[in-house]
Amino acid sequence: MNLNKECVLKNRAVVFFGPPGVGKGTITTRLAKEFKCRTISSGDLLSENVKGGTDLGHQAKKFMDSGGLVPDQLVTRMVVAGLEKTDGCVFLDGFPRTSIQAEELAAYLKKRDWELLVVDLEADDRFLMERLTGRLICRDCGAIYHRINLTPKKEGVCDICGGGLYQRADDRPDVVTARLSVYHQQSAPLRDYYQKLGLMVTLRGDTVLDETLAAVRRILVNIP
Ligand SMILES: [Zn+2]
Repeated sequence: MNLNKECVLKNRAVVFFGPPGVGKGTITTRLAKEFKCRTISSGDLLSENVKGGTDLGHQAKKFMDSGGLVPDQLVTRMVVAGLEKTDGCVFLDGFPRTSIQAEELAAYLKKRDWELLVVDLEADDRFLMERLTGRLICRDCGAIYHRINLTPKKEGVCDICGGGLYQRADDRPDVVTARLSVYHQQSAPLRDYYQKLGLMVTLRGDTVLDETLAAVRRILVNIP
């Protein structure tokens, strides 16, 4: 069964597109195992490069330290370096974010003769707000809880290690509102771009996780 699935996604990049909080990380992690695909997350790549002190990491850090966005070209170079080390299939999480990045990705995939599919996960802002602003993290072990959906046994205390729980600064309501509005602004032109090319499938991302997983799985298995 797995062999068959490997064949289905051969020489293919699947971009997971969707707002913060829609669960792209969880979905790509789960399905990557199942489909034996590598996941490239631009956020992880960025922090790996910065931590590892690579040339690209040094350059990116300068922009991050000054509070600016890392330029398209730099992000693309990091992702392409990751893609160069990948065979078979890849899931992309958090990339591309802009039309320029999307065009550069298309040019790269064309060179390698790889196909592209975009899975667009949609969710209402209210749902995302509730999910993100309710998230609590253990100071000591990093375990994740939720004020409504995944409450710890004792309020404010980690079930696993007894550590204190806190809210990440970028999960505060005002910051989440800003993150969502940046997403909507950035994503509109990208969605147009992919829709025109007929490469995008849109799914609801605000259902139960297993349902979303099943829907994505159906699409991946049935790629023409
Ligand atoms: Zn803990």
